[in-house]
Amino acid sequence: MDTPDPTLDLETGPAYDIERIRADFPILGRLVHGHPLAYLDNAATSQKPYSVIQAVDAYYREINANVHRGAHELSIRATEAYEEAREVVADHIGAPSASEVIFVRGATEAINLVAWTWGAAHVAEGDEILLTKMEHHSNLVPWQILAGRAGATVRYVDVEADGTLVMDDYDRLLSDRTCLVAVTHVSNTLGVVNPVAEIAQKAREADAICVVDGAQAAPHMQLDVQAIGCDFYAFSGHKMLAPTGIGALWGRREILEHMPPWQGGGEMISEVRLEGFTAAQLPHKFEAGTPNIAGAIGFAEAIRYLQRIGLERVHAWESDLTAYALERLDAVDGLEVFGPRKDRVGVISFRYADIHAHDLATILDQKGVAIRAGHHCNQPLMTHLGVDATARASVYLYNTRSEIDALVDALGLAAKLFGVA
Ligand SMILES: *Cc1c(COP(=O)(O)O)cnc(C)c1O
Repeated sequence: MDTPDPTLDLETGPAYDIERIRADFPILGRLVHGHPLAYLDNAATSQKPYSVIQAVDAYYREINANVHRGAHELSIRATEAYEEAREVVADHIGAPSASEVIFVRGATEAINLVAWTWGAAHVAEGDEILLTKMEHHSNLVPWQILAGRAGATVRYVDVEADGTLVMDDYDRLLSDRTCLVAVTHVSNTLGVVNPVAEIAQKAREADAICVVDGAQAAPHMQLDVQAIGCDFYAFSGHKMLAPTGIGALWGRREILEHMPPWQGGGEMISEVRLEGFTAAQLPHKFEAGTPNIAGAIGFAEAIRYLQRIGLERVHAWESDLTAYALERLDAVDGLEVFGPRKDRVGVISFRYADIHAHDLATILDQKGVAIRAGHHCNQPLMTHLGVDATARASVYLYNTRSEIDALVDALGLAAKLFGVA
């Protein structure tokens, strides 16, 4: 793969050069069922630019070896690249130190890590875990499992009709029984951006720790975990241009240091005797086994790519695109968009007349328009909205107005097939 990375001098131009950006993503050039691909399923996973694909490729071609304790050139180089990736992630989210960043498979594993370590050590009978009704199953089921084991109770902050959190309900439910608050930064179904700094501050005042699920925020906004003031922040690489199978958990040092290890194995120990073991220092204490080295390197490259373009510019582009999409979808008779109209990202759930979301997605696919249909790992939220599924279109930095037009045109085809007036 010798394609040069056309983004290398992107930072020199103030304009958002969408054609240039699109050219960085090889998959965007393909046809689907004879139509240009309109990829609007970014909340499920993003596409990958050449620079990321090449970084992974170069790792395997040039420096592949296992990391840490290696005495040979390749292992030293692989270790440097892996640990440098950790620095890139830490800098990107404003973490005070790279040793507070633990590489994991993704947001799901990050949240499970907290549940099985901090949770298992601190959550006791009678305690309460406070979630919201909009949590992704990944930030819900691990806490249900933990509560079941510990004899704790899970409580849920309510959601308004427009999908925003009922903050009075949060104030009401937060009490001295609350040991942990876990909340999504951005809803993966409604695009709502939650006031996580306020939530974290109130949790701290109630002596509860605060876990933020950043899977839908990290791809779209500049993060600063210290400004948010949470105790843990979890996110996945694959939704922000990186390969699958890599993500990060940031945690506050003083909490991480007192947490028991999770999985046992190589890498996570400093010494093993027949009688027992001594855990390694942070962050290795939580990284048992050979890590996803190529994934971490690809993750760092994805972050560099986002930084070259600038998340402010990405945000501005997506905001404009989201406003355009909402305007066009609102103009479709019989179509209902869920979620708020402002303070949101471009994750747009909707229903169209009485066409089932799955049928809608299948028809759109025939026109090359990729959206998602289903409960989006958000079944309690679906119940709350009174639906069993929604159709969801979600945009990212490479999407265009003409792809939104393709979506709306394809909806017209669905209307014709289903006899929607
Ligand atoms: C995708 C997503 C997750 C889970 O991420 P994985 O990459 O599947 O581990 C968790 N929370 C939210 C809000 C998500 O959108």
